[in-house]
Amino acid sequence: MKLILLAAPGAGKGTQAEKLSEHFNIPTISTGAILRKNIKDETELGKIAAEYINDGKLIPDDVMISVMADRLGEDDCKNGFILDGFPRTLAQAEALSASSIQIDKVLMIDVADEKIIKRLSGRLECEKCATTYHKDFRPPAKDGVCDKCGGNLTVRKDDKPETVKERLNTYHTQTEPLIEYYKNIGILRVAKGQEEIVDTTKEVLKALEA
Ligand code: AMP
Repeated sequence: MKLILLAAPGAGKGTQAEKLSEHFNIPTISTGAILRKNIKDETELGKIAAEYINDGKLIPDDVMISVMADRLGEDDCKNGFILDGFPRTLAQAEALSASSIQIDKVLMIDVADEKIIKRLSGRLECEKCATTYHKDFRPPAKDGVCDKCGGNLTVRKDDKPETVKERLNTYHTQTEPLIEYYKNIGILRVAKGQEEIVDTTKEVLKALEA
């Protein structure tokens, strides 16, 4: 299964990607996680990415397309993958369509902006393994500590309220047109985001069966 997850920032895309990864036993490729790792490691890509991410803007298409061409060519992607965060623009989607990779389905998780703003304030991320938590909706067993690896939980720099507004704006203007693009190709499926993560996963799996 080669799947794209499409959703506004904070709509639960990363969490659902993790669930689907376990369910289908295929890797999740998260562009945000790749970029944040590069920023942390101070690579050339990281230096470029930092200029954009912290302002809630998208990294230029040519950079992202080249990063993903390399990543999707790796061995672990042969039997399928879940794309979390790519494509995010029409140019990226067209580059993917023009490649030899055949995407099976595009799943859009539909969550209203007001809910997203509420969810992003309170989101926590593990510094080590990038698992996400939420202080109210998905708290770790021990405050400030990752359940999976024991790493430190922190608030992402781009989860600050001003940046969240800009990221939502970027989503509506640059990523939302992909919904129409994939609907026209006939591979779009839509799941309504629910209050509880498990309920959203049920909706997601149901939408993927269609
Ligand atoms: P995410 O963790 O998916 O919310 O991504 C965090 C940030 O990384 C985004 O706000 C963008 O600045 C950048 N980013 C992630 N994926 C892409 C992409 N496909 N194209 C451009 N920028 C991206």
